[in-house]
Amino acid sequence: MHGSRAIGVMGGTFDPIHYGHLVAAEAARTCFGLSEVIFVPSGNPPHKADRSVSTPEHRFLMTVLATTTNPYFRVSRVEIDRPGPSYTVDTIEALRERLEADARVYFITGADAVMELMTWNRPEAILQMCELIAATRPGYPPADIRRLRKAIPEANAKRVHTIEVPALAISSSDIRARVAQGKPIKYLVPETVEHYILKSGLYGGQQVVGTGGGPLSGFWRR
Ligand code: NAP
Repeated sequence: MHGSRAIGVMGGTFDPIHYGHLVAAEAARTCFGLSEVIFVPSGNPPHKADRSVSTPEHRFLMTVLATTTNPYFRVSRVEIDRPGPSYTVDTIEALRERLEADARVYFITGADAVMELMTWNRPEAILQMCELIAATRPGYPPADIRRLRKAIPEANAKRVHTIEVPALAISSSDIRARVAQGKPIKYLVPETVEHYILKSGLYGGQQVVGTGGGPLSGFWRR
C-alpha cells in the first residue's frame, strides 16, 4: 500500500451526466482508495466535431447538480475555461502542478475512450503523469478488453486498469434519444438533472417553462 495521496480525475463529455458515471466514479474511489474525484466536463472535445454537443455551461451545471450530494466529488471548470481543444494531457499537467510530487493521479473514463488513448495528444506523457481506469459496461466483450490492453504499449500495461460498472448499462446517447422521443428518464439521471434537462429543453425535448413571454423574455440565456 502506498502512503501518498491518490486522487481521481473523471473525464467525460457528460451530455448528460447519468447514474452510470456517478456509480463508476464512486466504484473507482473505493477500489483505488482515492481521497477525492474531480469531475472534468470536456470544454471543446476535439474528437466530437461530427456531432453537436450541448454547451459547456449546460454540461458543467448538470455535473454540479449531479455531484452535490457526494462529499468526495468536486467539479472543475479547467477544460471549460481553457480556450482551444480540450486535451487530457493539458488537464493532467495543470492538475499535477498543484499537487504534491508523490501524489498519484488516476484518470477515469469509459473503456471505449481509453481504447483510443494512443490517438490522443501526447499519450506517453499522459501515461507518465497518471494511471488510467477504464470503466466498462455490462456485457463488454472480453475481446474488446484484450483489444484495449493491446492498444497500450507493454511498458505501461500495468498503468491501465479496468473496472466493470453494471450501472453503465445507462448511456448518455440513450438518454438523449429518450428525451427527444418524449420518454421518461426518471431514475437514469439524478432528479435535479432530469428537471434541468426538461426546463432547458435540451436534446429536443418539450421545454417545460413557466411564463414564456413578458418583459423578462430573452433576459436569460438558454
Ligand atoms: P466518448 O467517446 O463520448 O465516450 C466513449 C464511451 O465511454 C461511451 O460509451 C461513454 O458513455 C463512455 N464514457 C465517457 N466518459 C465516461 C466516464 N467518465 N465514465 C464512464 N463512462 C464514460 O468519450 P468522451 O466523453 O468524449 O471522452 C472521454 C474522456 O476522454 C474525456 O475526458 C475526453 O476529454 C478524453 N479524451 C481526450 C482526448 C484527447 O486528449 N485528445 C481524445 C478523446 C477523449 P456515455 O456516452 O454514457 O458517457
